[in-house]
Amino acid sequence: MFDKILIANRGEIALRVIRACREMGIKSVAVHSTADADAMHVRMADEAICIGPAPGTESYLNMAAIIAACEVTGAQAIHPGYGFLSENASFVQIIEDHGLTFIGPTAEHIRTMGDKITAKDTMIKLGVPCVPGSEGGVPDLAAAKKLGDEMGYPVIIKATAGGGGRGMKVAATAADMESAFMTARAEGKSNFGNDEVYIEKYLTTPRHIEIQVFGDGKGKAVHLGERDCSLQRRHQKVFEEAPGPSITPEERAKIGKVCADAVAKINYIGAGTIEFLYENGEFYFIEMNTRLQVEHPVTEAIFGVDLVREQILVAAGESMTFGQDDLEINGHSIEVRINAERLPNFAPCPGKITAYHAPGGLGVRMDSALYQGYSIPPYYDSLIGKLIVHGRDRAEALARLDRALGELIVDGIDTTTPLFHALLQEKDIHTGEYNIHWLEKWLDANMAEG
Ligand code: ADP
Repeated sequence: MFDKILIANRGEIALRVIRACREMGIKSVAVHSTADADAMHVRMADEAICIGPAPGTESYLNMAAIIAACEVTGAQAIHPGYGFLSENASFVQIIEDHGLTFIGPTAEHIRTMGDKITAKDTMIKLGVPCVPGSEGGVPDLAAAKKLGDEMGYPVIIKATAGGGGRGMKVAATAADMESAFMTARAEGKSNFGNDEVYIEKYLTTPRHIEIQVFGDGKGKAVHLGERDCSLQRRHQKVFEEAPGPSITPEERAKIGKVCADAVAKINYIGAGTIEFLYENGEFYFIEMNTRLQVEHPVTEAIFGVDLVREQILVAAGESMTFGQDDLEINGHSIEVRINAERLPNFAPCPGKITAYHAPGGLGVRMDSALYQGYSIPPYYDSLIGKLIVHGRDRAEALARLDRALGELIVDGIDTTTPLFHALLQEKDIHTGEYNIHWLEKWLDANMAEG
C-alpha cells in the first residue's frame, strides 16, 4: 500500500480524498495555486505545496509542477479527483513514466472513452445499447443533411471530443441542420481542439440514468446500480439521486450486468460511470466517464461503501472489498449541488463567506471545503458544496433534504440553495416524474431571468 498520496485537485473533492487517506493510514499531500493558499484542502492535508499562479491552466493543470511536487514530497501515487487532469491520458502516461501510480484507469481506457465516437463504437462491440445515429464521424454538411433526412428529425450533433455540455447542438428540423452542424464543429474545435462531429437521434423525453461500475483491472467488475441525474440546467446536473425513481429491480439487474460485463471484458480498473438516456423502458448509451463522479456520494450512501478507498486499494494492486453479491441497496439518497451562483440567472458569485453552518443530524452528509472567513476565489468552478441526504425511502430522503437545507447557512455570497427550497414545493419532484427537460421548463416558468 502507498505511504503517501498527492491529490491533484482542490475544493470538496480534495477533502474527500484526504479523508479516505486518513482512514487508511496514508499520508496526504495537497497541491494548490497561489489563490488557494488559505483553502481548506491545504489546511487538512498532511503536507501542502504550491504549484503555480491562480489560473487553473498554470496550476491544477500544470503537469510538470504536479510531478515535481510528487518528487519533492515523496508521494507515490496521484489521485486526480474529477475535472482538471482526471481524464487526461497524457497525464497518466507521464505519471507512469516517472514510476508513480495514477489512481484511476489506464491511459488507454481514458483515451478510448474520451473520444465519444471511439467510445460508442467500443460500447456497441461490448453489447451495450446505444442511441441510434451515424456510424462514426460525419465528414461534411451534405453527409449530415442526408443522415438527418434518413433518421428523421430532431437530431443532435455532437463533437467527439466534447464534454461538460459543450460541443452539442440540436437540429429540430432540416432547416436547422446547417447552423447546428457548423456550431457543434466550431465549439469542438475551439474548446477541445478537435472538430470531428457525429449525429444521434435526439430523444425528446428521456431521463438521464447512469450506472456506476467498478473494476479491479484483472477482469473482475461489479455495478453499483444507477443514479438518476435528470434534473439538469444547460446539460449540467443539479440534483442527483439513487436509486432512480423510474427503474425497477429487474431493469437495474439487467442493465447493471451489461455494464459490469462490458468493463470486465476490457479489464477496466477503478471507478467508472456509464451514462445512458432512458426512454420508454429502453437504455441508450451516451458516454462513459473514466473517473469518480461529483455525485458518487448517493451511491456510497445506499450501498454503504467508500468508493475512494476502493480506488486506492485497486490502484495499489489489492483486491476490491466487495463482489456483486455483497452489494445490496439500502434506502434512498439525494444530492443537491450548492453553487456560488446568483439566481435567477446563475451568475457566478465568488466572495467572502461571513458565516457558515453545515447541516447535520441523521442521514445528512455535507461535502464542502467552506469555512467562515474563507474567500471563494473567482478562478474555479462554482460548486462549493454537496448536500447529500439518506433516508429509508424516497419520501424520507426528500423530507430530510428539506430539513437539512433549512439548517444550511452560507452568508456573504449568493448560492443555489433557494432553487432547491423551491423545487421541493413541486409535486413532480415528489412523484419523481421528470425528464431531462423538466428543470429548464420549470426555470423558464418560475425564474424568468431578470
Ligand atoms: P457531456 O459530455 O457534454 O456531458 P453527454 O453526451 O454526456 O455530454 O450529454 C449530456 C446531456 O445532453 C445528457 O444528459 C442529455 O441531457 C443531453 N443529450 C445528450 N445526447 C442526447 C440525445 N441523443 N438526445 C437527447 N438529449 C441528449
